[in-house]
Amino acid sequence: MTERSHVSVDRLSVHYGIGKSLFGRGGVVKAVDEVSLEIPRGSFFGLVGESGSGKTTLGRAILNAAPISGGGVRYVDGDVDYDVGNLSKADLKDYRKRTQLIFQDPYAALSPRMTVRDIIAEPLEVMGLTKTRAETDERVREIAAKCRLNLEHLRRFPHAFSGGQRQRISIARALVCEPKFLVADESVAALDVSIQADILNLLKSLQKDLDITFLFISHDLSVVAHTCDYVAVMYLGTIVEMAPSRELFESPRHPYTKALLSAIPSLDPDDRGKAQKLEGEIPSPAAMPPGCRFHTRCPVAEGRCSTDVPEWRELTRSHFAACHFSE
Ligand code: SF4
Repeated sequence: MTERSHVSVDRLSVHYGIGKSLFGRGGVVKAVDEVSLEIPRGSFFGLVGESGSGKTTLGRAILNAAPISGGGVRYVDGDVDYDVGNLSKADLKDYRKRTQLIFQDPYAALSPRMTVRDIIAEPLEVMGLTKTRAETDERVREIAAKCRLNLEHLRRFPHAFSGGQRQRISIARALVCEPKFLVADESVAALDVSIQADILNLLKSLQKDLDITFLFISHDLSVVAHTCDYVAVMYLGTIVEMAPSRELFESPRHPYTKALLSAIPSLDPDDRGKAQKLEGEIPSPAAMPPGCRFHTRCPVAEGRCSTDVPEWRELTRSHFAACHFSE
């Protein structure tokens, strides 16, 4: 853990046992497998990968919402230093207040029977953080204004709002307890492109305003490109590349990152048709390929890739990758 770290993940694993099925034997699903990373305080840290890469499970394990099978998560904030997998009841309650999740689907995340005021106020009331209704109302109005919600809308129900407005309500609800660490899991994926930019700008300004550290999970590298300070690329339960955002986009070292980057649509006619298409599906985390996990789809794989696990190496300052040929 470095001095600047807010959250430190050390060889973290989340494995699930699966029972015997009619056609197959039981086994172990390695959703997250010995992942290590440092999330600097006050940063916007991107976690990118295809569906099935384990990024949502990693985010939830950091929030103590998925069972940790090995390794650990450390959370440091002022005089608080938590080993997240081994929290006492009182510390877990405090950790729940300090960390929050913004859900992916703004349509499913909000109860249709509650007013916007009650939706935003609920975490305060459940955690007993305010003493009177007037105090709760004041806090709700304050955070709603910060999330650029019209205060007259607090009496309405969620069905009256568009996707972008609903996501603002979800964000206000996540922020009402004044957390310092937020996991935003595909928080703009369900929105139109123009609304995505609006919500991303809101998250960035809230980050600065409220001094929050963000873990921003997305399957879309183009979304992460303009938002994040650091990016970690995840494939089949493990991190394959990690670097400051600009460095990663200008000088990717792992073939998987290169393939994801080349798939971003370009306005330059010379770039069209150059996308490096990834062949095949991501393998099952219950049947990990030996050697480099990416070798079954890697366009530049060589013989040793199917037998030797590539080492996780620092290539240039703060730029890490796990590929035999990163140099
Ligand atoms: Fe591809 Fe081999 Fe590098 Fe893995 S180690 S990414 S298979 S070149």
